[in-house]
Amino acid sequence: MKYVRYEDQDKTQKYGILEGDLIREIEWDLFGDYMPTERTDNLEEVRILPPCTPTKIVCVGLNYKDHAKEMNAGIPEDPKIFIKPTTAIIGHEDTIIYPDHMSKRVDYEGELALVMGKRARRISEDEVLDHIFGFTCLNDVTARDLTAKDGQYTRGKGFDTFAPFGPYIETELDPHNLHISTYLNDEIKQSSSTSMMIFDVPKLVSFISNVMTLLPGDVVSTGTTSGIGPMQKGDTVEVQIEGIGILRNHVG
Ligand code: MG
Repeated sequence: MKYVRYEDQDKTQKYGILEGDLIREIEWDLFGDYMPTERTDNLEEVRILPPCTPTKIVCVGLNYKDHAKEMNAGIPEDPKIFIKPTTAIIGHEDTIIYPDHMSKRVDYEGELALVMGKRARRISEDEVLDHIFGFTCLNDVTARDLTAKDGQYTRGKGFDTFAPFGPYIETELDPHNLHISTYLNDEIKQSSSTSMMIFDVPKLVSFISNVMTLLPGDVVSTGTTSGIGPMQKGDTVEVQIEGIGILRNHVG
């Protein structure tokens, strides 16, 4: 099922399930039980919001061999994790604001992200899939000049609007062999499979849960493949993942 968080024409925020071109509104105890209602909205007439409201977004760097190679980096021994602030979150069709007061090189990074469904602290790899609610697309927008200059990621990946994710959370998906691609102004820039990850989803989530407790709604983004590159104001960027959909954002 595809879960959607959205705002209707009266600007009321709702949760729903996608049924073709319709969204069926649900009454939902977040990540618990939900009750479908008789009410529907047309997908075309609503504003899609980021599909959940995490307490943190944990990202993984250098998790595809070809991307590690293009960055002239070695294969990491352990997952290389960092956090994006929740103030960086935007949704489908929202605008990534170019921070040209500080950066001259802002890149897209198309990534598969997962949303936690249950609290996870020090869980084993075998327990991971049972703790995940579903999967979505994330663009790990990066001020490449600043990550290089700073030698760490907080500034370069933490600007407001640098964590677009959505448009839906797909709950019935095997994450291990999905085609993932990124388009810039309709031109394909990244194309790979999630089967090419160095650390797979169970390894990543178990590892992170041994560092920090993951809460329901928290987002883990699993890293980008090769083909990263810069965006300019006026560009449109799309992250497309098989079985989930397309996350589209504009740069302004
Ligand atoms: Mg990344």
